[in-house]
Amino acid sequence: MRTRDYDAAAGPERVHKGIGVSPGVAIGPAHVVDTGFQQVPEYRITKDGVESEIARFQGAVAKSVRQVRKVRSKSATLPDTAAEDVSFLMDAHLAILRGSRLIRGVEQRIVNSLCNAEAAVQTELAQVAKQFERVEDPYLSSRVQDIRDVATRLIRNLTDRKYRAFSTLPTASVVLAEELTPADTALMDPRQISGFATLVGGPESHTAIMARSLDLPAVVGVSAEVLECRAGAMVIVDGDHGLVVVDPSPETLTAFEQRRADQAADREQLKRLAKVPAQTRDQVAMSLMANIELPREVDLANAVGADGVGLLRTEFLFMNRSDLPSEEEQYAVLRDIVVGMKGRPVTLRTIDVGGDKLAETLHHRPGTTTNPALGLRAIRLSLSEPRLLETQLAAMLRAGAHGPTRILLPMVSTVAEVRAVRATLERVARRLRRRRVAAADSLPPLGVMIEVPGAALAADALAMNCDFFAIGTNDLIMYTLAIDRGDEQVAHLFDPLHPAVLRLIQFATEAALRARIPVSVCGEVAGEPRYVPLLVGLGIRELSMAPTKLLRVKRRLLALDAMAASQRARIIMDQGDPGRIAALLDDFNDIG
Ligand code: PEP
Ligand code: MG
Repeated sequence: MRTRDYDAAAGPERVHKGIGVSPGVAIGPAHVVDTGFQQVPEYRITKDGVESEIARFQGAVAKSVRQVRKVRSKSATLPDTAAEDVSFLMDAHLAILRGSRLIRGVEQRIVNSLCNAEAAVQTELAQVAKQFERVEDPYLSSRVQDIRDVATRLIRNLTDRKYRAFSTLPTASVVLAEELTPADTALMDPRQISGFATLVGGPESHTAIMARSLDLPAVVGVSAEVLECRAGAMVIVDGDHGLVVVDPSPETLTAFEQRRADQAADREQLKRLAKVPAQTRDQVAMSLMANIELPREVDLANAVGADGVGLLRTEFLFMNRSDLPSEEEQYAVLRDIVVGMKGRPVTLRTIDVGGDKLAETLHHRPGTTTNPALGLRAIRLSLSEPRLLETQLAAMLRAGAHGPTRILLPMVSTVAEVRAVRATLERVARRLRRRRVAAADSLPPLGVMIEVPGAALAADALAMNCDFFAIGTNDLIMYTLAIDRGDEQVAHLFDPLHPAVLRLIQFATEAALRARIPVSVCGEVAGEPRYVPLLVGLGIRELSMAPTKLLRVKRRLLALDAMAASQRARIIMDQGDPGRIAALLDDFNDIG
């Protein structure tokens, strides 16, 4: 069936290349995300609040500089004149951000008028615009548009404005945006949105992970020209090959519609495997668990027959809101998830914000530190905010009264962090008992994410101090190879088959097996059938992945000979060249 009649206003077909980060084909009318602003919050601040308001403003300036630099470096992929135009424009924006009347004026206004930064930007912009209007020089007066663009960006970054309008879009819309945060993506309803494409972002970014879990085809790293497309123009997002086609020809459209239908048929076929036990051809039993980003995925996890939740990312509790969730609120959501999993274990991870995961409600704004991925992220933030950690642990312990749970700590790098959390957990459990609040009978197992190279290398010591490991390959690869997982410019270097990464996985797995504690892999590689033989060959028996990936992984497992996989893994672990490793793995996959 054709999605829509062919559009008379359509121009010639344009194909834009990017990086496919979530598979599948989306076809629908374009919704180009407007990066402008309508309503600017205005409020007074106190004299004591001036310093933190200026710091907040500087954080927004720093974030804007990063965004503009990214757009500028992407312009290199545009045709000659377009590349020159975009980089010229972005240089002008950078010059404004690095110190201009606008930036100085906003800071003075915060100090002198005691107003919030957003209001200061707006008032200062109006002043600057008025002065420029009086200038005769057409070049100078055109600069006002640049200043307006920069001010818009600053306000957007200050308010963390969400694209709430998604819910009003026509069915099957394809969202095209400069950048989408994980929180923006969480607002997308797959019944409304069929896919998206952005200029900025990497395949292992949390936005991409969110897209995969919602089963939304997505492409990142496309050129800025994509945003010039008409609202409502027919667009195809090909998440398998990283393509965005605007105004497809009738032939192209038919070919993509056929592919989409084939993929739907394959999904139907896979459904038959939901109840089949996950074991290899030579009877090695595996546990296939679900990674959950949003509570609505519990049904999906059950529908594919997941053995439990191997990773519940609790960041969603903190997204798209201006206050922190209370213990009661967190408990209610976690309880529903535990109940929803009907007796199968649920692994609750404490909050992991920082890096590319924003929680605007926390006053530690990741955007204000120079190097957020190495800063106060994840367990470090929790330990520095005892109330935040205690509230989460109390909610988790209470959810444990409704079914089996485990508690997982992100980004651990030292044994001291685990001990500190365990002490807090015991204290919170005692407090709940004193208050006679129902909670898990005994303390749930406390596990550690192995996602920092130092943690992998110290796995023996960590294994003696915790109850299970979950290997987070997304961050492990990022920190081992020094590749920002959210940066499309280095995405081609993000290699799970780099021998350094494989050795760390092997080292941590063997430490867990020696200490007889469970070990799983819950990074994105766990959901890729290609990597399954290698992980099984290294001794992994538990994999956790987006529910949408689970049945494909099971299909691969059912055909796998675990003994042969471990022999191949031994050969692979003797290699030093990622290309050779890839060839050895792909050969193995080709023959069985
Ligand atoms: C990981 O780093 O592999 C992981 C599973 O955690 P997250 O993607 O949430 O950082
Ligand atoms: Mg991680």
